[in-house]
Amino acid sequence: MSAQIIDGRKCARALTEKVIADVAALVSEQVQIGLATVVVGDNYGARAYERKLRRLAEELGVPYYGHTLDDTLGQDELLDLITALNADPTVSGILILRPLPDHIDEATVFRSINPSKDIESVHPENAGLLALGVPRFVPSTAASVFHLLDSYLDSVGENRADFYHRSLIVVVGRSNNVGKPAISLGYARQATVESVDEWADKTTGIGRHTRWADVLVVAAGKAGLIKAEHVSENAIVIDVGINPSTSEDGKVRMVGDVDFDSVAPRVRAITPVPGGVGPVTDIWLLHNTVLAARLLAGHDVDGRADLITDNSNPLQEAS
Ligand code: NAD
Repeated sequence: MSAQIIDGRKCARALTEKVIADVAALVSEQVQIGLATVVVGDNYGARAYERKLRRLAEELGVPYYGHTLDDTLGQDELLDLITALNADPTVSGILILRPLPDHIDEATVFRSINPSKDIESVHPENAGLLALGVPRFVPSTAASVFHLLDSYLDSVGENRADFYHRSLIVVVGRSNNVGKPAISLGYARQATVESVDEWADKTTGIGRHTRWADVLVVAAGKAGLIKAEHVSENAIVIDVGINPSTSEDGKVRMVGDVDFDSVAPRVRAITPVPGGVGPVTDIWLLHNTVLAARLLAGHDVDGRADLITDNSNPLQEAS
């Protein structure tokens, strides 16, 4: 039997409706919203993501301030730019795209962002709050993973809490921006969570962990890492990876970390690449920009609303 395909574009459309309504409400309440992004250098993925966010912000009527800078930029100049964005009342959300050039210390840069504008929760205060289960902002990629899972469970009539409480979630990849936040969200849902990194792959192999997963989240950045022999038949597979792959005709297309053709016929449900995690991640960032605008305007905002594990998450209502 072939897996159910979890349609990220459909989930993203539903979320977009909600964000459009939120932005309209902010405008009518005269609350300022604006998204600022900073790209340093000419990394292909970072520039492509920046263009996507620019289009999305424009579509939603969110003022957008894109800063695309040469990789010769010094760290102090970058810190000066962030200081200016922190003070700018037209900017509610700040996103510094990775990777930064080697001469810039990522941790120092992330620490310089005003935590109330840190929509990806990269500032240690926000990363700490997330790890404690009381987030200010739920980072967009991990949020997307669980939004897709929740949506799938709803679509098959399975109670979310019952499912998570008895499930093993295996997260492959342990980066600060994707793997670790996904682990925190798994804990918040009271699931059993296992983290697998490349040393497991190099030593015992990842299959001894991944084969037991009820939910397999893959964020390693390695095309085709997960094959049919790595998954169980009842697994729900969420593929976060985005890797460029050149086909025989010379065309470059994006593929995931999961070998979709061999895995999809075997498992219960799976997200495609493209069209899975990516579209929900994009709109979630705008959702967090709305939260930041409210927070800066002194409204009562509780990021824990985005952690809700039962079937009453307001973000699900539109889906
Ligand atoms: P990263 O390079 O910062 O981290 C990758 C993690 O995977 C590291 O912990 C590394 O040790 C681990 N890893 C590497 N090889 C492994 C292996 N063979 N077995 C097990 N673990 C291994 O990357 P990232 O920023 O976390 O992104 C991961 C992937 O997700 C990339 O392909 C990236 O493009 C993609 N991504 C997608 C979205 C989206 O919205 N769909 C958002 C962010 C990142």
